[in-house]
Amino acid sequence: MNNSKNVLNYMFGKGAISNLASILDQKESKNDYVIYYIDEYFKGKTLVDKLPIKDDDRLVFTQTKDEPKTTYIDELKEQLIDANKCEPKAIVAIGGGATLDIGKAIANLLTNPGKAEDYQGWDLVKNPAIYKIGIPTLSGTGAEGSRTCVMTNAKSGLKLGMNSDFTIYNQLILDPDLTKTVPKDQYFYTGMDTYIHCIESLNGTYRNAIGDAYANQAISLCRDVFLSDDMMSDENREKLMVASYLGGCAIANSFVGVIHPFSAGLSVVLGTHHCIGNCITMNAMEEFYPDEYKEFMDMAEKQGVVIPHGIASNLDNETYQKLYNATVIHEKPLSNALGEDFKNILTFEKVVEVFKRM
Ligand code: NAD
Ligand code: ZN
Repeated sequence: MNNSKNVLNYMFGKGAISNLASILDQKESKNDYVIYYIDEYFKGKTLVDKLPIKDDDRLVFTQTKDEPKTTYIDELKEQLIDANKCEPKAIVAIGGGATLDIGKAIANLLTNPGKAEDYQGWDLVKNPAIYKIGIPTLSGTGAEGSRTCVMTNAKSGLKLGMNSDFTIYNQLILDPDLTKTVPKDQYFYTGMDTYIHCIESLNGTYRNAIGDAYANQAISLCRDVFLSDDMMSDENREKLMVASYLGGCAIANSFVGVIHPFSAGLSVVLGTHHCIGNCITMNAMEEFYPDEYKEFMDMAEKQGVVIPHGIASNLDNETYQKLYNATVIHEKPLSNALGEDFKNILTFEKVVEVFKRM
């Protein structure tokens, strides 16, 4: 039985980021310097000037063109070793799911020897991580609440995080002002990640009453946001930030289903980013999730967001084989959705047909 852990402290509300200085001041530690990982979008923006960054701290702008690779995490760790900054008082990560995951991974690697790839899996992290604070600037992945940090190992093709209680943030600052500048399509694609996580978990067989309660509430908030006239109003950005956090907690208590494995296939083989990949996969999901498919399409139409079509409709056989392998490797979620003998349903021909429909 799961012995679930949640984020210990969180602060929620407009302008909450102004409390970062006092949170850091209250934290006692041997050293006083702090490592900041901030999404490169904020380079040169006023947000950075308002942060309590001191001379001795280190500020790194994270790249988000590609989703985090294990080699990129290793590079960031090496930079800290070279600069003799391996025992910071805190790591502060400010950004979307990618940057939040980078903060988590580095916090684990500073107290555990070896490389990022050594910890891809379940409960491989042995020593408690550096104290870390997560500050999301984009809502939907639930990375702020979850116990993993997704990384791609380009050599092995494995897209898997460090699933561990040590990966969970010690402190969150949830400030809906920070998501004002997100481009509209990105806001929709990432926001839908929480909707999709939650419909997958509620349609699965490995259920748990607490996971269900989080998921139902997150879906209800997503409906408020994405069926309204302005998904990015002040009130809706607040609601989506809450939905994202609850979705992250839901998934710590359950599993995803058919959509995430197909989306992971797109991501590993074609380099498609996670959240847009889920939305593209939804194009082909009517037979698995008929009601949610319809609701998803209504939401996209209501918000005037176009879901790309046809990225996997005309590929060669070798690529379809890779897509098939990268999809059916996700046994836990697929058996959660379709049963232990899911491979009888998801034959090679069937999987190709689904990709062609996207
Ligand atoms: P992201 O972090 O990849 O960022 C997407 C884009 O939005 C980037 O261009 C970024 O610069 C921009 N952006 C972020 N905040 C902005 C702001 N306030 N204003 C303007 N632009 C902004 O996006 P994401 O969709 O949040 O995260 C995707 C990542 O999350 C993937 O790497 C995925 O694997 C990971 N993920 C992690 C978990 C988890 O539980 N750890 C769950 C799902 C997904
Ligand atoms: Zn997801």
